[in-house]
Amino acid sequence: MGHFERREGYRMKHTIVRKEALSAENYLIEVIAPLVVRKYKPGQFVIIRIHEEGERIPLTVSDVNPEKETVILVFQVVGKTTKELGTLHVGDAVLDCVGPLGNPSKIMKFGRVVCVGGGTGIACIYPLTRALADAGNEVISIIGARTESLLILENEITKVSTETYITTDDGSKGHRGLVTDMLEELINKYEDSGGIDRVITIGPPVMMKAVAELTRPHGIKTIASLNTIVIDGSGMCGSCRVFVEGEMKLVCVSGPEFDAHKVNFDDMMSRLTMFKEKEVQAMAYYDSKDTH
Ligand code: FAD
Ligand code: MG
Repeated sequence: MGHFERREGYRMKHTIVRKEALSAENYLIEVIAPLVVRKYKPGQFVIIRIHEEGERIPLTVSDVNPEKETVILVFQVVGKTTKELGTLHVGDAVLDCVGPLGNPSKIMKFGRVVCVGGGTGIACIYPLTRALADAGNEVISIIGARTESLLILENEITKVSTETYITTDDGSKGHRGLVTDMLEELINKYEDSGGIDRVITIGPPVMMKAVAELTRPHGIKTIASLNTIVIDGSGMCGSCRVFVEGEMKLVCVSGPEFDAHKVNFDDMMSRLTMFKEKEVQAMAYYDSKDTH
């Protein structure tokens, strides 16, 4: 048997065994992926490909179920591939679910840790809040979204956090404004009672940059999990490159977490839009097909 035939023979069937709509734009899917489950640690991600003609997209592993050999993924519909993924049903399968990729998050007892998640970043920060709480930290969570209907995993995050704060851009739930407004309040609140030992942030780069600028003058160690464009996932394609203290790093193999005070967020933001035209075309073409 040739190499490729053998690979085909061993191809895992990544069936979807659970699907939930968490909001108008967010889904949770539970997918059979025994090889990922065996090695997974919080902070790692998988790369999904829906079918032969599909592109590869990275998604954070939100949780694993070792008995069912499944991974739980939470994603927001933002373009063609996430929209298509959202149309799959229980019993359907994705062609590839490769991982775990990236380095696990550093989990130990830091003390008082503030986790700041925005938009789809809420999905990515949830496994870290859980792991940090399990490691004995005082976990304070701030989660923010454009509007109440886009807030996800609020109950799950609240359960593992000693305090949870919600912000929405339009004030439909929680504090009206930005996650950084809340973070600033917390920095002041704890200034005279032990301070904050660590901040972890995942969300739009503009938000992570603002978090980093806020904590920098206070000297609070701040970690950002970077959501650059990841295609290959094994350090081969270079699309996810970022500059950290002026040095080029690949998010997929050296990250996804970096010291937020050292990341060049402006360069990262400009690279995120490099395929915008193609993404808009792909979405328009997908919507024009009458197959879903
Ligand atoms: P498109 O229309 O193709 O793109 C919309 C925007 O998404 C782009 O402008 C770009 O900013 C970004 N994007 C596009 N392709 C990629 C790509 N290959 N890699 C990264 N970003 C891309 N999203 C979630 O909802 N849940 C998660 O748990 C999650 N985890 C992630 C973990 C990592 C390590 C990274 C790097 C990204 C993660 N993302 C997550 C973001 C997710 O990969 C993108 O939203 C998705 O790829 C968009 O694909 P699309 O075809 O639907 O949208
Ligand atoms: Mg895409």
